[in-house]
Amino acid sequence: MEPTERFTVSFLEPGLHIYHVTLEVGNLPAGRHALSLPVWTPGSYEVRDFARHLFNLAVSADDTVLEVYHAAKNRWLFETVRPGAVRITYQVYAFDPGVSLSHLDQSHAFWNGAQLFLLVDEYKQLPIELEIQAPPGWIPATGLDRSPDHPGLFRAENYDGLIDSPVEVGTHRTLSFAVDGKPHSVVLWGQGNEDTERLAADIEQIVRTQGEMFGGLPYAHYTFILHLGDRGTGGLEHLNSTVCGIQRFQFRPEKNYRKVLSLIAHEFFHLWNVKRIHPDMLGPFDYNQETYVRLLWALEGFTDYYAYLTLRRAGLYTVNHYLSGLATRIKQYEAQPGRFVQSLSEASFDTWIKYYKRHADSPNRTISYYLKGDLVGTCLDLEIRQRTANRQSLDSVLKRLYQRYGQDGLGFPESVYQETVEEVGESSFEEFFRQYIHGVAPVPFEHYLAYAGLALERRYKQPASDRGPEDSEDVGEDERDKPVAAGETLPWLGIETTPHRHRATVSVSYTHGPARALLNPGDEIVALNGYQIAGPSDLAKRLRLNHRSGEPVEVAFFRRGRLETASIVLADAPFNHLTIKPLPTASSLQRTIYQDWLNAEWPEPVSQ
Ligand SMILES: [Zn+2]
Repeated sequence: MEPTERFTVSFLEPGLHIYHVTLEVGNLPAGRHALSLPVWTPGSYEVRDFARHLFNLAVSADDTVLEVYHAAKNRWLFETVRPGAVRITYQVYAFDPGVSLSHLDQSHAFWNGAQLFLLVDEYKQLPIELEIQAPPGWIPATGLDRSPDHPGLFRAENYDGLIDSPVEVGTHRTLSFAVDGKPHSVVLWGQGNEDTERLAADIEQIVRTQGEMFGGLPYAHYTFILHLGDRGTGGLEHLNSTVCGIQRFQFRPEKNYRKVLSLIAHEFFHLWNVKRIHPDMLGPFDYNQETYVRLLWALEGFTDYYAYLTLRRAGLYTVNHYLSGLATRIKQYEAQPGRFVQSLSEASFDTWIKYYKRHADSPNRTISYYLKGDLVGTCLDLEIRQRTANRQSLDSVLKRLYQRYGQDGLGFPESVYQETVEEVGESSFEEFFRQYIHGVAPVPFEHYLAYAGLALERRYKQPASDRGPEDSEDVGEDERDKPVAAGETLPWLGIETTPHRHRATVSVSYTHGPARALLNPGDEIVALNGYQIAGPSDLAKRLRLNHRSGEPVEVAFFRRGRLETASIVLADAPFNHLTIKPLPTASSLQRTIYQDWLNAEWPEPVSQ
């Protein structure tokens, strides 16, 4: 008889933040057995050593307590003399509100399986039962299948399925809708300024649009777990559920709400891209150590790309929202000197020690595979459309990978990605991959955007905040920012700062900025040319209003508590205002690409 596994989770005193977990294994053969707890959770590429929260581990068989040998930080051994049932009990402290972590307090319980469930080695493929013993009135919500005759009993196909199904238990609100006859729940823990009806309708629209792209929804039911708290904590994707941590007042104004929708669209898109379309090392998972992947630019970056694009296609973003967002991200990418140092495939490989372990010099030495991956996805999509006269697109690449591998639960060798692009694009993409994915060549956005009849414009604008309240008008932000006269630039110190007690604390000193080797991260700037500053925005505004590039300024700062000064010659700031606009004339292919790509009519540019 095959062994059986059943976990029971109870939370006797939520205020102590401790989960009591019991694992009953039936029909376990006699011999030596190993238990382990993951060191990371899929989707979040950081070694988190969840075992640091586990305590009071005990194993018994026939009411006899067995000896447990602690063999490694996340691994325990025990031995049974007879085949039969074994009972494993332990407790887990959970008081981390992040989406990749676990939390238990007076208001709810939330867990990521990787933090809670021990794996009995060799039995990773066994189906697992999970019983949740919740306090009265607390309801579980999860992507796991619920037992029809026991409201607190769930079933996972195997250990991977259990780990990939976070659980929210509490008195949350639940919104529901169906798409293709499949039930979807939106579970809200916490409250904010959300409009729940609109939120459910918009999420439904995201589900429909992305489902249409792939020709259907590959699950029986889907659960969105939304945590509304005092800060945004991002999102984590799962097989048929997601968890998003949203700052509770992010639902207004519209600009912030669009960010909420892009997070949800990103996490939902992952159910295809990464959960089903993935290289072979990303499932089944090795939970004991880092899993090195060179494709995160496609798995995360392209997911970002499609989050924005599907919001546009669904009509939740206007063309203007879409293109101005794209221009902003190009500006962010171009501001990172690290783009000349780290390639996308290196950024992916090193995510464990670089993206997830950032430090003050990271912007100078690394590039985000989200940010550049999204932008390279844009260019790759446009390049495929151009080469195939818009018969194919990046959609075709993802759909093909899904049909060949993803829908059957198969991973693929990493080299398959470029091969599939070349197959869809009907030509070699060696040069494209060499320059922008494995190399650090600057991405020529103008070149790719022109395929869709678009031009990228770079300018300086004096932010509206530089003017007093008496100058402010009730118009859009873009119009309030004033263009800087032709031939003029804005002055730049080449640093990023954060506010700290009326000071501007240096967080980054750019390697291509004039303050390099003069200002260090941690320096607290207190005065400019002898006059006190009131923080980062005051410093930036004073520079813009009173100084020009090429001019020396004296910066006074505290370094490790000692007052020092440096004379710094201001440089030209990078362009702070990028816009993407239709070209005055466009060929019929340019118009076709624009229309099909953005699901919009070609706009006749206003003649100037
Ligand atoms: Zn993601």
